[in-house]
Amino acid sequence: MMMNRCVGTNKLAERIALRYSIPISLIKIVKEEEIELVCDDYGKDTFDGLTVYEQENDIFYIHLNTARGNRPDKVKGRFTLAHELGHYFIDHHRTALINGIMQPHYHNYNQFGNNEAWIIEREADDFAASLLMPWSLLKPDLQNEKFGGSLIKELSGRYNVSFSAMAIRCLKCAYIPMMLVYAQDGKVKWQLHSEDFPFWQLKHGNTMVPENSVIGEYFCTCDDCNCRKDEVVFAGDCFDTFNQEQNNLQFYEYCLPYKNSAFSMFWQKN
Ligand SMILES: [Zn+2]
Repeated sequence: MMMNRCVGTNKLAERIALRYSIPISLIKIVKEEEIELVCDDYGKDTFDGLTVYEQENDIFYIHLNTARGNRPDKVKGRFTLAHELGHYFIDHHRTALINGIMQPHYHNYNQFGNNEAWIIEREADDFAASLLMPWSLLKPDLQNEKFGGSLIKELSGRYNVSFSAMAIRCLKCAYIPMMLVYAQDGKVKWQLHSEDFPFWQLKHGNTMVPENSVIGEYFCTCDDCNCRKDEVVFAGDCFDTFNQEQNNLQFYEYCLPYKNSAFSMFWQKN
């Protein structure tokens, strides 16, 4: 059963997105809103994006840090810019900017917390995902083809977002039960799973990647021959299972390696 509801969807962003075509031209939105976009080198250890309100001239400035790879036409920069547009469009964010309360920030999936700043950042991320990948358009695009790594790759190209952003969107919109894993040097940096995915932990928890998964094989042997394709894996090799019977359940894994890091998407084989 496919679910229709998307919990991470920001209605305001979806409404704005539907005025444009895919891929969403953020530059057009910036121009129409008369926002000043400044792309510059602000140093590697600073911020990705920053929105500032200038009281005297009643102008919003969005700064994109090119030193951290945020170019407005590239997937990372587009997500950062869409996130900053969230701060501009969402009412209480905008008010905080005008009152000078909002501080510059990083985008980092490793940072988890429960304070107000964290909630505001997640709201801006949901806005960004909804603006770049409006669910009302993405859902039929997904339904038209068989789910898999190549579909996510194709759609990420069409929407001009990263593979991981597209996969996270599918997970948050509860399109199918799935687990996503990002690892560096063989260590799990973060893991996300949908509520209805049968396992909530990887085989070794959030420490080392499971050695007999595709992502594990990539780190253990530097062999990427099973990467970039839908590969059949067994639950017992990948997840923290409860009994022997579950170990034989089959899943697909699509692993996308890049230098010392890799991203894997798991979903159930029907
Ligand atoms: Zn932010």
